[in-house]
Amino acid sequence: MPQLFESDPMKTALDIQHKPASETRQPPAAAAERPSLAGMSLPALGAALEKAGLTQKQARMRAQQVRRWLHHAGVQDFAAMTNISKAMRSELGANYSAARPEISTHQLSRDGTQKWLIKFGPGIEAETVFIPAVAKSGALCVSSQVGCTLNCTFCHTGTQRLVRNLTAQEIVTQVLIARDALGEWPADMENRQLSNIVFMGMGEPLYNLDNVSEAIDTLADGEGLSIGRRRITVSTAGVAPKIPELGARTGALLAISLHAVRDDLRDEIVPINRKYDLQTLFEAIKAYPGLSNAKRVTFEYVMLKGVNDSLAEARDLVKLLSRIPAKVNLIPFNPWPGTIYDCSEPDRIEAFANILNRAGYASPIRRPRGQDIFAACGQLRSDSEKISAAAKRKAGLALQA
Ligand code: SF4
Repeated sequence: MPQLFESDPMKTALDIQHKPASETRQPPAAAAERPSLAGMSLPALGAALEKAGLTQKQARMRAQQVRRWLHHAGVQDFAAMTNISKAMRSELGANYSAARPEISTHQLSRDGTQKWLIKFGPGIEAETVFIPAVAKSGALCVSSQVGCTLNCTFCHTGTQRLVRNLTAQEIVTQVLIARDALGEWPADMENRQLSNIVFMGMGEPLYNLDNVSEAIDTLADGEGLSIGRRRITVSTAGVAPKIPELGARTGALLAISLHAVRDDLRDEIVPINRKYDLQTLFEAIKAYPGLSNAKRVTFEYVMLKGVNDSLAEARDLVKLLSRIPAKVNLIPFNPWPGTIYDCSEPDRIEAFANILNRAGYASPIRRPRGQDIFAACGQLRSDSEKISAAAKRKAGLALQA
């Protein structure tokens, strides 16, 4: 790649060495072929600029300027980066893009919930969901993997094989896409709806901790996307050895996908429990750095009729949570085709919640959202795969005909 940048790091505007165009420029590649800088972490951005010819020191400084445009202003066109010289912008545009990944499907619910199926490459699709009006503002549920290895039996994503981990950049671009749709640029605008991030989409974040941690650094960057670490929650099915490390590396809030209070039942519903049982899990939770009433652990508990919803289990849950600053999200099960479970009756969910509330644990019952546009997490991707398999079969038949 040609040298893109001038060598004087003291200039405020970015500029390039002015060589004749024939010496410096390759024919511009199509936008889809140029690597995108959008969503890159600051160190990755610096590395990309260094690869393009800047010294390490220059690249570090220029990366900060480009990052501000990409993640604070949300621009998708280098031409809009007005404190960067024209020549530099044009070279950036010839070699990189600021494009988002392709959106395969975008659905908007009557209740304001939005869901995207994002295509990161051939056969690499993951889901992202924006849920408005959680607390004062909305939360974006992001995916960390395409598919999952953990096979939780109530989870539709658990029926899909793991394709691969998402990169840190791919995780961050999910947030860029949501901000684009919500029109929430610059990133520090007042009353923004997208205020919180939850890693509760497809995949087990602690099996992709390096990338999740790098993505959180980018999301929390005050010069970029400006989402405070206390507004970012990472949910795990129970990869116990990585739990304290998650806290130390990210400062994010912790959520545990619990769903059962006995090992025999949890072994079945959340099979990673066979590897890290409840005792091991709770020892790891207690070691999470900085736990306090201001930094509580969220326990997610999906309500499965006749499986985990007895009032005795609610009382056992209270015992299990003893001395842990915690709240419990009770999630009415959202059935998907082929599941063996039903959702608990509303009265039972209410009674379960009352026991927890009386013991001092806030236990909101999550209202089903966006039911007119989608069912369970992971279903959009399955539907997309089915459509593409059907399209391939159809194409094969057409070729044979
Ligand atoms: S609940 Fe989470 S960890 Fe379990 S299968 Fe689904 S995506 Fe994977």
